[in-house]
Parts: sequence; structure tokens; C-alpha cells
Amino acid sequence: MSRKLYLINPKSHIEGYLGASIFRVSGTEPVVYVTNLATTTIASLAKSFMDVSICEEEVSQIDYETDAEFIGITGNASQSEGMLRISGEFRKRGKIVIMEGPFASLNADYVRPHCDILVHGEIENICGELFSDLIRNSWKKEYFGTPSDLSDSPVPDLTNYPNSRTILGAIQISRGCPCDCEFCEAVRFSGTKQRYKPVDRIARELDNVFTSGYSDIVIVDDNITADKEKAQSALNTLIDWNTFGSNKKKVSFSTRLRIDTAGDDEMLDLMAKASIDLAFIGLEPGQKDFVGIDAKISKFLQYGIQPTCGITIGSDTDDVNTFKQIRDVFESLPIPIYAISGLMAFKSTRLYARLAAEERIRPGDSTNTSICPAGTNIILKRMSQEEFDNGVKWLCSNLYNPPVFCNRVSKMLDDLNYETRPWYLDKTYISPNYERKDRKWIMEQSFKVIRFLYGTGEAERKLVTDLQKISEAYPYKAPLVNNYLIRYAQVRHYFNQLGIYEAALFDRTGTF
Ligand code: SF4
Repeated sequence: MSRKLYLINPKSHIEGYLGASIFRVSGTEPVVYVTNLATTTIASLAKSFMDVSICEEEVSQIDYETDAEFIGITGNASQSEGMLRISGEFRKRGKIVIMEGPFASLNADYVRPHCDILVHGEIENICGELFSDLIRNSWKKEYFGTPSDLSDSPVPDLTNYPNSRTILGAIQISRGCPCDCEFCEAVRFSGTKQRYKPVDRIARELDNVFTSGYSDIVIVDDNITADKEKAQSALNTLIDWNTFGSNKKKVSFSTRLRIDTAGDDEMLDLMAKASIDLAFIGLEPGQKDFVGIDAKISKFLQYGIQPTCGITIGSDTDDVNTFKQIRDVFESLPIPIYAISGLMAFKSTRLYARLAAEERIRPGDSTNTSICPAGTNIILKRMSQEEFDNGVKWLCSNLYNPPVFCNRVSKMLDDLNYETRPWYLDKTYISPNYERKDRKWIMEQSFKVIRFLYGTGEAERKLVTDLQKISEAYPYKAPLVNNYLIRYAQVRHYFNQLGIYEAALFDRTGTF
């Protein structure tokens, strides 16, 4: 009999700005926000050794009575409680639990007591040994992966994945980042050597995601543009793949970008042609990235890229005035969504080492705390914890005040240059996957979220009606308005979970 592996991606105990937990709480069916590349890649690696099934806990009940002998659990910090809960249940039932992925690797001491097998590092180069050992019943307690050159990383297996309940598809083009920022946890796992997939491999991965039904795809790279030549080659692959008929596009892409990409017109032009429509731009802690930010954001919009910005507070230069400075710079920029977070010193980072040496890590283990607005484990240099907590609350309540948010969306619609996206100006155009029943189902759920937001209160009702009215002036961009209303509903739900939004804190004078 073939051995069985049951792979689980646990539900987050707290979802963030870009999650989809609002679908669960607003009376709609739960959905997954982005395809999980860990379970689907492992499924692809393991399927020649064992029978593999996948559970996305957000949309499926975990089958604790499964006849699989091996249980694989992945996840990030926001899923750490689920990882331990699920592992405990399966180990009670005598199953062999395997943990892998960045969180398990970087927090080995934390997860070690809760699993039978711990995989450190990337799995590609050791998967043959691991799965052979499993089927021979002679496994080791620890496996140590080495960085893959990505030529042997398989196309993720989406056949058992709940694609019809997942909003965004995902691909990965590169791993690693040479920038090696002091605070960055991602680079501690993926390394400072940037590795890119071969271009034919990227095209196969895109085919796989597209045929699985997705019309919007996230490129989940740490820093796709780090190697300019390779990034250009990857973007040319995207352009070729994403063009069909007379300049029509199959999908819309989003990815992370550094703010300095604004200075590279050649790269931005390729992104426009590939239909990279949305970028998450993480601004470094401290305020040096704020210099000239309006011109840089304008540049992204000029190339048809909608910016979402990550702002981190808690660096050694931040003090009580920082909140007002951020509010003054960012409240009216054409950036609808800001992911505001406290600076976390994760254990594997150089920041943690420096602050621990300075005895500035707050007592108590913060391993399983995900990045969130009110979360920092640092003894701050220039403000008290109470000042930080009050400031974050004030900032979040101000930047997400409904009329302020409405104004930013309106400005973004005005500035977003769709001349760079002629395919969106074609009235007859519709991405082929939008015609699919499952995509239409997800759209229906999205409308239910907007109706939920509409029913939340008077200010929210006005936000929905005002934005829908504004969108009439931008007929080609109207679908973006719905997206931003859903994102707004998610952010407010997230803030409610954390208790950090108070309408009464809205204050145009900037005192708190
Ligand atoms: S640029 Fe981004 S991915 Fe690279 S090290 Fe800095 S924070 Fe990490």
C-alpha cells in the first residue's frame, strides 16, 4: 500500500492587512486570500513517493481521522498557534508530524518539542532523502536543506488545492535578497544570494496557475528587481506569456517592490507591459524613505502601478512626533492602503542581536508574534511603550478615517495612468478566467463583503456610496473601487481584532 502524506496550512490566529478573514466574519463563505506555495510545492516534490492530500484550514475542516501516517505542517508566525494545536491533535493519534518552512526553520527551539521531524532550510535538495526515509520507516529527527538553485524546484501541484475558493494565485520567480536589511527575517531564511528560476520554468508555472483558474497572480518574491538583468529577463517572459490576441492580457500581477524602483523607468516600463498592476512597497524603519515620496509614488502611478505601502514604527529615530509626521505625509497621498506595523526584532535577525546586546528586547518570548500595528518587542529609544501604543492607535484611526480613505482612493483613481494599460481601455476585453463559474462565485462573495461594510455604520455607508459614485467618473477603473472597499473592510476588521481603531481619535489638528 502506498504511504500517505497529509499537508496542512493552518488558519491564522490573527490575519493581517492583506488577509481574507473579513469573508469569514461578514456572513459570506470563507475564502483563501493567496495560494499557499509551501504545501503545493511539497505536494509536487512528494507525489512520486507517496499519496499526497492538502488541507487549507481556512476553508476545510481538518480530517483528524485521516489514514495518512505522515502529517506535514507549514505556516508563518501568524499561524504558529494553529501549527502547535494541529500538531498536538495528530500526535495524540500516533501520527508522525513533520514541520517545515521559514517559521519552523527560524524558530526551531519553539517548534522542536511539537514535531517528530523538523526540516531546516529549503526542502528541494533534501526531499529525495526525506521522502525515501519516510517510506522506509527510518527517518531522522532533523533534516538540513541547502539553498536550491531553483532549476530543480518543481511547478507547484495545484490539483488538490481549493483553487475555486482562493482569490489570488501565486508564483515565485526568485528567492533571496542581497540587501540584507538589519531587521529582515525573510532574508535569514532565503539568504542573501539572489536566485532566479529559468525562464521556461517561469512560463510553465504561469500556465499551471492560469489553467487552475486564477486571473490575479501575486509574485511572492522577496525582491524581484535585485538583479536587474535577470529581473528584466523574467519580466520579458511575463510580457510574452501574458499577451494574447490583440494586446490583451490573461492575468493581472502584483508584487513587492522597493521604493527606489521609482528611479528605474526601464524597469517600470517592462512592469507596465507585463501588467504588474499593484505593488507592495515596504518603507524602511526610520524616515529616510519619506524624502521625495510623493514624486516616487507619482512615478509608480504614471506607469499604471497602484502602490500599497508598508510603514514601520519603532526605529531608534522615531519619537512621539513621528506619528503626526507620518499622518501629515501620508494621509493625502494617492495610496489607499497602508500596512502600519510596529518594528519587531525577530530572533534570527541582526536587529535582535544588536538590541539584545543593548538589553533592549522586552522580557517575554515574542517568537510567535506576527508583525502588527501595536506589536513591538523592543524597548524603544525615544518614547515609552504607552506613547507608542497611543500613537499607533491615533495614526491607524486617522489614516483609516472613512472620508480620508475615500479621498486617497479618489486621488489614486485620478492619477493612475491607464494609457499604459490599453487592454483595460478596451470595452470588449475580459480576462478569460473571469468567465469561469468559480471566479464569478468569488466576485459574489466580494459583493457580500461590501454590503457588510455598508451595514457597519453611517460613516462606512457613506464611504461605500461616495466611492461608488466617484467610480462612475472612471468606468474602466470601477472594479478597483470594489477591491479597495474589500481591503478597507479587511483592515477595519483587523483593527477591531486588535482594538486599535477609534473613530473619536480622528483629529485634524494632529494632537494626541
Ligand atoms: S530589501 Fe526587503 S527582502 Fe531584502 S533584505 Fe531588505 S527587507 Fe528583506
